[in-house]
Amino acid sequence: MSSKRNLALRMYVAAVVAAGAVALVLAWIGTDLRNILGPKPLVFVVFLILSAVGEARPIKWLTGRDDVEITASWTFSLGLLYIAPAAGSLSAVAAVSLFIELLHRKPFHRAAFNSAQITLSLAVGSLLLRLGGANGYLWSHRSPGLRWLLVATAAGLLAVLTNGLLTAIVLALSQQLPFRVVVRSTLQANVVMDMLLIGLAPVLTGVAVNSFVLVPLLLVVVFGVFQSAKIGLIHRYEATHDTLTGLPNRRLFFEQASLTLNAARDNGRSAAVLLIDLDDFKEINDQLGHATGDITLREVAARLLRHRRATDVVARLGGDEFAVLLGGVDSESAEGVAWSLVHDLNQVLELDGVPLAISGSVGLARFPDHGDDIDTLLAHADAAMYRAKSERAGLEVYDVGRDRQGPRRLGLLSELRDAMANHELFLQYQPQIDIRSGELCGVESLVRWQHPTRGLLLPDHFIPTAEHTELIEELTERVLKLAVAQASAWRADGLDLRVAVNASARNFLQVRFPEVVRGILEEAGLPGDRLELEITENTVTNDPARTIAVMEGLHKLGVSISIDDFGTGYSSLAHLRSLPVDRIKIDRSFVRDMVTNRDDLVIVRCIIDLAANLDLISVAEGVEDIATLELLQTLGCRYAQGYHIGRPGSADQVASLARLRGVASLDNSDAVSSFDCEPESLSVSVPR
Ligand code: C2E
Ligand code: CA
Ligand code: CA
Repeated sequence: MSSKRNLALRMYVAAVVAAGAVALVLAWIGTDLRNILGPKPLVFVVFLILSAVGEARPIKWLTGRDDVEITASWTFSLGLLYIAPAAGSLSAVAAVSLFIELLHRKPFHRAAFNSAQITLSLAVGSLLLRLGGANGYLWSHRSPGLRWLLVATAAGLLAVLTNGLLTAIVLALSQQLPFRVVVRSTLQANVVMDMLLIGLAPVLTGVAVNSFVLVPLLLVVVFGVFQSAKIGLIHRYEATHDTLTGLPNRRLFFEQASLTLNAARDNGRSAAVLLIDLDDFKEINDQLGHATGDITLREVAARLLRHRRATDVVARLGGDEFAVLLGGVDSESAEGVAWSLVHDLNQVLELDGVPLAISGSVGLARFPDHGDDIDTLLAHADAAMYRAKSERAGLEVYDVGRDRQGPRRLGLLSELRDAMANHELFLQYQPQIDIRSGELCGVESLVRWQHPTRGLLLPDHFIPTAEHTELIEELTERVLKLAVAQASAWRADGLDLRVAVNASARNFLQVRFPEVVRGILEEAGLPGDRLELEITENTVTNDPARTIAVMEGLHKLGVSISIDDFGTGYSSLAHLRSLPVDRIKIDRSFVRDMVTNRDDLVIVRCIIDLAANLDLISVAEGVEDIATLELLQTLGCRYAQGYHIGRPGSADQVASLARLRGVASLDNSDAVSSFDCEPESLSVSVPR
């Protein structure tokens, strides 16, 4: 943080603390000490205790930058304001707040600031009460009327608003974000809850003063409001965080990184993106098991968090990939932070007394030198990270001169954008057969790019690059539209084929993805069960909670889901049990040599048998000869795809082949069931 900002923050904190103290002193002037708790000391004490309980048990909400807290204490603090003179209520609330913050081991200046902030907010509210003539109403002879209710509610509103304003200023100063951005996100997080708490306060107070026995009833209401707010927050939390490590997920990282970069751009400041990938994580997972893998990932998250400052964002992007955004750093300090991070990552991890060596490779890209948006910066940090990994260097800073791919990659992305607009992308379809009958059962759609100057481009030339950016979402939608329209056209011609589309990890993090798919299916009039989506295993480890929600949304449409390239990722088959998945496609690298290579044969056999036991259908890809096909049939594999059956071709070619071979009736229910693999392999993940 720059020292100027630091100074501004300190001065602000000091000013709020001083203003809080002054407000307290002013409140005490001329106050009648005998009446300090108001006419109902019992109600005062009960409200004070409840306010303390609310304060001590807030809903905490980690945003990845700072903790947002929501407490139910407002209702009772406002209640105190309504029933007692300002001196009594402000002092009591200030003392309770200070005490609880210190109990939570907050540093003294923070505790003092928070306490002063609440005091000031309530003081402003109290001023409005006095101006509105509603002060002291509750201990005068009359019971509260409509006018009091209105003034009291307005005073509560003003107090909470003041509090929000004071918080927003401190957040904006400490996180170096524009004030309006902070206000918006604070409002989004708290507004409904705050309104309810403010609304409840006068009612609760009125009831408490007039018939104390009804208080428990209203407490139930407050508790209910609090619980429902909590559930809402938990949902929000789950949608934006990785469940294993508690870190923000890819989506939240992009959101927060974009905010930070916008602010940096406005203020002419710099920033840096670090991409961190663990070395040999697959080996840890395979050899020591998933539990150890999970512990390792959690430990790495903890180590990264140790370096986080208020302006930084630390996130898990998926698998063993983490990202850190360093806000407001110059190039030297960015490298300094990155090196200390590498050093920390490389410390041995003790697991039950057994040392486990872990290490990570870090790529660094700087804003604005190496890119102006988060997509470009991440792509460049990625390139640097790969170099760090291949050279075992620990850390590499992005270097345009050494990234021969870089300019090409950026050019490629803009060309691809144009290609989509100009309809240069088209699909080929590769047939899949039911091995038992030899009939065609479906096709996989494979995208091609008819490039105006470079000729026909296969997906490996552009998909991996597109997958790093939002472009892949649009690409998937286009491919889906083409594939679904084709399937519908075949159906009209009497060919009932299921069509599979390759989706990317990003699609399964889009909550609206099932809605997009539904729209596309409806437009073409294709039943959902004629569509299948293929995703790779690692997509799922990214952010399981969210991915599973998207999968379930797709299932509701009847769309089936298959795990592509199975066996090349981290997950074990046992792990698949928890996922709403229908089929697995055995990666072609195992299928290719299974006739001659015993290891590959064992792997394929185990995948087929275990899949059957999990009620999953197995599909072998890369079947290049009849011997492989026959062997697969003996092993009980249900479907096959590969050059031996048919190369990717046009829709017409598929139609001719379908008429030649016949079309299998589609149903999911009859997965083959056999089990001749050693039981212990159940818990072993599939090695490469
Ligand atoms: P994939 O999903 O594993 O697709 C199968 C790839 O294997 C295709 O390559 C196909 O031509 C090739 N293949 C099929 N049978 C055989 C065989 O018997 N032997 C061998 N050696 N190869 C075979 P293609 O079309 O180049 O696609 C490469 C990858 O690009 C795909 O791998 C898929 O991951 C990705 N891809 C293709 N279309 C799309 C798309 O529309 N969206 C996304 N996100 N990815 C796509
Ligand atoms: Ca595929
Ligand atoms: Ca595949």
